Amino acid sequence: MGKDGLVIVYTGNGKGKTTAALGMALRAVGYNHKICMIQFIKGSWPYGEIESIKRLQPEFELEIVGKGFVGIIDDKTAREDHKKIAQEAIEISKEKIQSGNYNIVILDEINYAINLGLVDLNDVLILIKSKPEKLNLVLTGNYAKDEIIDVADLVTEMKEIKHPFKSGIKAKKGIDF
Ligand code: ATP
Ligand code: MG
Repeated sequence: MGKDGLVIVYTGNGKGKTTAALGMALRAVGYNHKICMIQFIKGSWPYGEIESIKRLQPEFELEIVGKGFVGIIDDKTAREDHKKIAQEAIEISKEKIQSGNYNIVILDEINYAINLGLVDLNDVLILIKSKPEKLNLVLTGNYAKDEIIDVADLVTEMKEIKHPFKSGIKAKKGIDF
């Protein structure tokens, strides 16, 4: 018996989680399926996909709700603000998920947001539970909680074998961002 909509998790310490979600969206646009990606945490940095997604209008929508990475050196945003913004992202996600307008909703970096304590695990579990039967829901970010893995249908762990960063090679345009 086929299940209409899947809960999909891309986690692990290797590169490719967001890329995998974007790849799936690219595939789905080929069928005129509707996709909404909500980016948690990311916000102030330029990413190539912000421009590419514009070319995939109106099928592919992007909502960037983050304020840049949390806790890194150039992070000048107060923790409370990060939390407020993450809460906003949850509200937007709820709205998009329950709208019935999409085939795929991607909650990018939501696992990080949970691990940083910006988002409540329970709120995310409720979000997953309340999704329309037909919706495919994708959650990315390392250290996915067991409770999320438990309710998922598809879980892939990106495992780092090698990463150029470890040999001092900086992030590359079109490859990393
Ligand atoms: P991508 O967006 O490239 O698919 P990701 O979603 O798997 O990566 P994130 O944790 O979101 O990984 O981090 C995004 C950025 O961090 C990317 O520039 C990516 O190349 C880099 N990155 C991912 N994994 C590693 C790693 N194991 N070591 C160092 N840098 C990494
Ligand atoms: Mg990512």
